[in-house]
Amino acid sequence: MTGCAITRCMDYESSSIRNALQEIIANTDFPCVEGKTVLLKPNVLSDNPPEKAITTHPAVVYEIGMLIKEKGAARIIIGDSPGMQTGPFRPKLSGIIDVADKLGAELADFRDNPRIHEKDGFRMPMAAVLDDADIVISIAKFKTHQLMYATGAVKNMFGLIPGLNKSPMHLKARTPESFARLLMAVFAESHTDYAFIDAVEGMEGPGPANGIRKHIGLLMGSANAYALDKAEAAIMGYSSVPLISEAERIHPGITDCSYPLLRPEEIAIDSFMRIPEGKKSTLRSLFLPNVLGFFGIQHDTRPYPHFDDSLCRRCLKCAEVCPAKALELRHGRIHIDKHRCIHCFCCHEMCPFDAIKIK
Ligand code: SF4
Ligand code: SF4
Repeated sequence: MTGCAITRCMDYESSSIRNALQEIIANTDFPCVEGKTVLLKPNVLSDNPPEKAITTHPAVVYEIGMLIKEKGAARIIIGDSPGMQTGPFRPKLSGIIDVADKLGAELADFRDNPRIHEKDGFRMPMAAVLDDADIVISIAKFKTHQLMYATGAVKNMFGLIPGLNKSPMHLKARTPESFARLLMAVFAESHTDYAFIDAVEGMEGPGPANGIRKHIGLLMGSANAYALDKAEAAIMGYSSVPLISEAERIHPGITDCSYPLLRPEEIAIDSFMRIPEGKKSTLRSLFLPNVLGFFGIQHDTRPYPHFDDSLCRRCLKCAEVCPAKALELRHGRIHIDKHRCIHCFCCHEMCPFDAIKIK
């Protein structure tokens, strides 16, 4: 059975990361990289400093790159495509450019001639560099996510869809369950061989961009990315998350694994600030939709984005990324058309000024 290795790593010192990685690799099915071209896919949701815990820490990417070099990889490529990518991929603040320089790795721009992949009813433009890679490694970040509750190794590969091409994909996958199926299709087409999660510093609360940094003190790795994400969700204290529920429903046994080091239930964090798993039922919430439905009126109880005028800088990034074209500037304020909103929360994810709350 595939192993899912979880071990302590209390800081981003080179020796701490290296010891943890060696323990993880020794206890899991790490692929042979000798003579191969290896694509490393960190999470660079947006180019932010490592201290914000939005992106995979550069020290983790570097040490993984060094291990792969020592194991004889012929070529290393590092790439991602932030949701708002409009220019060349030059992730300076997050430290990824420096890592690529130090490793002698190539930096891939996923917007260069993307290829169309078709899988399970989805038509997806994906990074052409996948064709060059013999081995693909996801290096995700331990973070919450407004729509999917947690973002991990499988969802990290959604970044293979270049920049703003991601937004229209949400229109084809409007619920957490259908979005989970889209993520599964992207992941299958990525042919990911191995996955790590950087959980030294993670994010709780309203992730994946505007949450609160939290020290977790772990590094995790497995050849089974679904098992790894299930372990991450359990450590966060979720009973289930949409991606794993949907994956297990469609492919029973997909998350089966052994835990050769730490077990997730032993290290679950009681105080972790999770995304609320749906609103509690009240008499009003149970009966109001039925009563309104009887009169042909739709009543949506899902949360919406709310805009804080005191924090909003009117940059319009939210309107640009909104797949449903539900946002516009009216009389100097962001206005939302709730009939159009599909609750994807891309606006919240991309707001650089934390001016959007989901409630
Ligand atoms: S992205 Fe944030 S700051 Fe920019 S307009 Fe939208 S709410 Fe305002
Ligand atoms: S307003 Fe925000 S949550 Fe609603 S569809 Fe647009 S991006 Fe998604």
